[in-house]
Amino acid sequence: MKEMAPGKREINYLRISITDRCNLRCIYCMNEEGINFLAHDEVLSYEEILHLVRVSVQGGIRKVRLTGGEPLVRKGFIPFLEKLSGIHELDEITLTTNGVLLEEYAEAIRNCGICRLNISLDSLKAERFHGITRRDCFDRTLAGIHAAERAGFDPIKINVVAMRGINDDELVDFARLTMEKPYHIRFIEFMPMGDSNGWEQKRFIPTEEIHQRIKVLGPLNPLPNHRLDGPASRYKIEGATGEIGFIGPLSHHFCDRCNRLRLTADGQLRGCLFSDSEIDVKTPMREGRPDSFLLELIRQAIRSKPLDHGSLEAKPKKCVRPMSAIGG
Ligand code: SAM
Ligand code: SF4
Repeated sequence: MKEMAPGKREINYLRISITDRCNLRCIYCMNEEGINFLAHDEVLSYEEILHLVRVSVQGGIRKVRLTGGEPLVRKGFIPFLEKLSGIHELDEITLTTNGVLLEEYAEAIRNCGICRLNISLDSLKAERFHGITRRDCFDRTLAGIHAAERAGFDPIKINVVAMRGINDDELVDFARLTMEKPYHIRFIEFMPMGDSNGWEQKRFIPTEEIHQRIKVLGPLNPLPNHRLDGPASRYKIEGATGEIGFIGPLSHHFCDRCNRLRLTADGQLRGCLFSDSEIDVKTPMREGRPDSFLLELIRQAIRSKPLDHGSLEAKPKKCVRPMSAIGG
């Protein structure tokens, strides 16, 4: 029988942080020196991740997203992806990347049967991109997006973290891209995470405000959500080719629609980004416990998923772990 999370939520989506390391240092995610990165033997090996995915499909998981840190910096990523895409019970495998290495890898990723990609880009200006990511990789990121287009990814979702006084003068420019390009531009509310992400109330822009601001381009018509879609609300500007999505974890309670579980880079299952309660699956797996035991832990993580994370906009809760280790 399928395990349901409280609130009768079907949990079919597993987000996996395959590494906490990264080639950028985004101001909202890490400090300049990075974070206290995990030691190599603390991080799940590819074989261990594959093992856990094979078990989790027995618990109802049908979609996997690979994220990090930056997934493409981990050695051996393509052979791992080939093996993952051989797990036939999965209906969908997707990837979130900063795009820096995509020019090199887009075709190989597409050849593994992956069709959908999320690429993060918070500015359309080279200098500002440098300010936000602390690295000089703007041209490589754009080249990565173009390589993804040539390789035939559809859709290409562009994740934009909206930050007041940092990139909010570009929100309309990002939305305008959907008039010409088939991109799905997804505006994400700036979240307080870890202890090195510089979150301040004055930098926070609620989804509602972003929505209002981009309405200058035309009416935003709502689109329906699919079964494997996450909590983004989707819209299309009248006459546009692409879509707009809003992800408002602080201002909007989408917990009743949250279908996801997270696996951290060091093998902890988490039911909610904003709850620090975790279930260790790495230790029992390394001790050689049977799959039935691991499956029960996965079911337990689903059952103990919090019903909601409370009102975060009024009283933001800082998540203890950095986003890169949990898997954003
Ligand atoms: N390195 C990859 C990337 O940047 O796309 C994948 C990992 S990153 C942690 C995943 C997503 O989380 C990115 O879209 C990033 O913008 C988002 N993110 C990270 N920290 C965030 C924060 N404090 N608030 C909102 N979004 C955040
Ligand atoms: Fe790296 Fe992604 Fe975090 Fe930026 S958001 S530092 S690209 S993991």
